[in-house]
Amino acid sequence: MHIFPDASAVARELAPDEPVIVNRPHAAARAARFFATKFPGKSLYAVKANPSPDLVQILWDNGITHYDTASIAEIRMVRSVLPDATLCFMHPVKTASAIREAYFTHNVRTFSLDTQEELEKILEATAAQDGSFAKDLRLCVRLRVSSEYSELSLASKFGIDLADAGELLQSTRQVADWLGVCFHVGSQAMTPFAYVQALERARAAIADAGVVIDMIDVGGGFPSSYPGMEPPPLEDYFAIIHRHFEALPIAYNAELWCEPGRALSAEYNSLIVKVEKRRGDELFINDGAYGALYDAAHVAWRFPVRHIARKAGDVEAALDATDLKDFSFYGPTCDDADFMEGPFVLPAGIKAGDWIEVGMLGAYGAAMRTAFNGFGQGDVVVTTDEPMASLYTGRPDPRVSDNVVSLR
Ligand SMILES: *Cc1c(COP(=O)(O)O)cnc(C)c1O
Repeated sequence: MHIFPDASAVARELAPDEPVIVNRPHAAARAARFFATKFPGKSLYAVKANPSPDLVQILWDNGITHYDTASIAEIRMVRSVLPDATLCFMHPVKTASAIREAYFTHNVRTFSLDTQEELEKILEATAAQDGSFAKDLRLCVRLRVSSEYSELSLASKFGIDLADAGELLQSTRQVADWLGVCFHVGSQAMTPFAYVQALERARAAIADAGVVIDMIDVGGGFPSSYPGMEPPPLEDYFAIIHRHFEALPIAYNAELWCEPGRALSAEYNSLIVKVEKRRGDELFINDGAYGALYDAAHVAWRFPVRHIARKAGDVEAALDATDLKDFSFYGPTCDDADFMEGPFVLPAGIKAGDWIEVGMLGAYGAAMRTAFNGFGQGDVVVTTDEPMASLYTGRPDPRVSDNVVSLR
């Protein structure tokens, strides 16, 4: 893959008519090392945030040994890249054939569930030919918790209510070799208190069940940095989670797990898009609601942007960076819903033919591209500069790209 110093160099050399995905392997490596060394437990990468085989390999090379997968396709992909990784099947509603293949072909032992029916399904799908149940199942009961401190809710679909959790924990304990409690506080949790509240609910469920718990999995939700959404340092989350974990009534050797998706992948990608047309403060660009900018359209997520001058040192093209204006975007498809409100702050003189780099698209961005309306093609390149924001460097000035990776 071609390596460039930054997105400006990419745009000038390739003059791309299609969106270009920019990979920053050093940024993903740094995020992985941060979680692997600083989280006071085990960090599983939630593959759905960005199921790129390249990224999975980078995370493994930098200390991430466990992977949270949600489908048999994700399990096959990670297993083909990482034969020795520990894979966990953490979708609470699975098909029997997926469970069977995961257990017998891919050596998956950890499964999550939130109903009695799913427990029975797992037991039957992993039973030996003589009908005897597996003795090595590691099962996690998913608890419903509040999403009130997160930007994207995950509170309605999955998780057993506290009132019913005790009974399910008891029946799962009878068949599990190892029993965990897991939850998800919602994505982009803007305060560590989200986890405190969820851990209190876990405490109540455990007390109610009166069973031995071997693992607590605090799920994903660890934030990244976006315009208007600058979270506290991740160290604060880790410290508070650790303190409340230690106070739970669980086995003395119980493990603490987390499942970051966004936090491990957000800084890995940005995207170079081209301005096809300008209409007042609306820019028609070549990616949108059916591409990597899915969240910008569907949940009005604001990603950081930067203008790329058409020629280096070109005075006219290097637009006055102090004269800025709020823009919204239209994507390339013929659909009115292909609209991104923003605001995206760019030089007031931007025009058709210019390029824009959209940052922090590694999580739920690069993974969302479709071929709807014939769009969705484009190159993938590597750059060595810093992502537009980082939770792992003390947040450098986004205009400075000195190619130096600072390790803490
Ligand atoms: C989506 C998901 C994650 C990752 O969530 P982030 O907010 O991206 O960290 C982790 N665990 C489960 C079960 C998920 O569904």
